[in-house]
Amino acid sequence: MKFQLTEEQQRLRDEVRQYAQDVIEPQAIELDQAEKHPTEILNDLGDRGYAGLTLPEEYGGMGEGMLELTISTEELSAVLMPVASALALHLGVAEAIQRFGTEEQRDTYLPSMATYDTVGVLGLSEENAGSDKSGLETTAEREGDEWVLNGHKQWLTNFLHADYVLTYAKTGPEQESSHNITAFLVPTDEFDVEQVWDTLGARTVRSPKATLSDVRVSEQQRIGAVGEAYVQRKNLQTGVNVPARGVGIARAALDDTVAYTSQREQFDQPIGDFQGVKWKVGEMAQRVDTARLLTLRAADRADRGHETTREFSMAKVFATQAAVDNANEAMQLHGGIGYTTETHVERYLRDARLLTIAGGPNEGHKDTVAEAVYDHPRWDSNHDRDI
Ligand SMILES: Cc1cc2nc3c(=O)[nH]c(=O)nc-3n(C[C@H](O)[C@H](O)[C@H](O)COP(=O)(O)OP(=O)(O)OC[C@H]3O[C@@H](n4cnc5c(N)ncnc54)[C@H](O)[C@@H]3O)c2cc1C
Repeated sequence: MKFQLTEEQQRLRDEVRQYAQDVIEPQAIELDQAEKHPTEILNDLGDRGYAGLTLPEEYGGMGEGMLELTISTEELSAVLMPVASALALHLGVAEAIQRFGTEEQRDTYLPSMATYDTVGVLGLSEENAGSDKSGLETTAEREGDEWVLNGHKQWLTNFLHADYVLTYAKTGPEQESSHNITAFLVPTDEFDVEQVWDTLGARTVRSPKATLSDVRVSEQQRIGAVGEAYVQRKNLQTGVNVPARGVGIARAALDDTVAYTSQREQFDQPIGDFQGVKWKVGEMAQRVDTARLLTLRAADRADRGHETTREFSMAKVFATQAAVDNANEAMQLHGGIGYTTETHVERYLRDARLLTIAGGPNEGHKDTVAEAVYDHPRWDSNHDRDI
């Protein structure tokens, strides 16, 4: 077994890291404080091909897998988490079109999504459909060759700067449970914005609530099979970006803490020389490595076509909690200055706090891990040769 990235993966990591450090990091505090959308950065990342990272080359993508998505997301999240979030959610929409759409839909949307000229956002959650998506109230009724949508979507990350919402709506009777949900690509200008929340973190990319009133879309805007969108969605692996974002923040918090505690002196010595500080830094490093290994394992299994439910949920829980814990520790070890906007660490803590909630709260993912453990108390054949 080799715990080593390929040369191409190292190159990708180095390229994204260089861009993140040279271009994004110097603006991060200012963008966050001004609550300014990182439009230029996202367009720039699109020009560099990252908006098509996991799309096939025939549609203008880079043809990479979930490992590469994990690697690049960590780098972006380490400097400004909402940039990684907007880009990964966009890639998730593109991936759904690529996997479940028709050839015509792929030809229509994917080339311009690969360059970020067309931007997608995810419209799954609603006011009464958070952890439990069976509570969806948005409906789509077929009328001839059209569908008429009514309802609302909530937490539409990057909606205010996007073109299409991948909108999940009920198209069948209640009793059919998860087989009554269909997805549509609805233009953002068909929605009415109802509320733009003021949030603790992720302040550069807003996640508003928006309503749909008798919005008509054509049959050509339906993505995937009627009634099966929620089931099909479970085959998408781009959700690995959530733990990857956790790894990014956890690592950034560690790096900043190492730098700060090495130069800050009290009692005639760097505070990093106190054993109490060293142990904390050691634990922070341990969290980063564990979070990264779990996330890369989930991504690697996804790329090899293996079942990932247990591995993904384990990575999600651990890496997002690692981000919160490391950001919190970083603030403590930066002392008073860490509590100000003079350094990045107060933003790390605010941004990290979202990650244990979004992408499904960690409690639900812990249930998933435990259920998988009870279902397969010993390694099954699928795991035999995996760690
Ligand atoms: C800033 C932001 C951006 C988001 N972006 C998007 C997006 O782009 N697209 C999208 O579709 N959604 C998005 N979401 C929605 C996000 O995925 C949901 O917020 C999340 O699924 C939780 O739903 P909820 O907020 O309704 O919490 P609820 O479902 O009401 O849960 C509240 C709390 O109850 C507890 N809980 C819930 N279920 C369980 C359980 N099974 N066991 C034990 N405890 C439990 C947890 O502590 C949970 O935090 C975003 C959310 C936020 C806040």
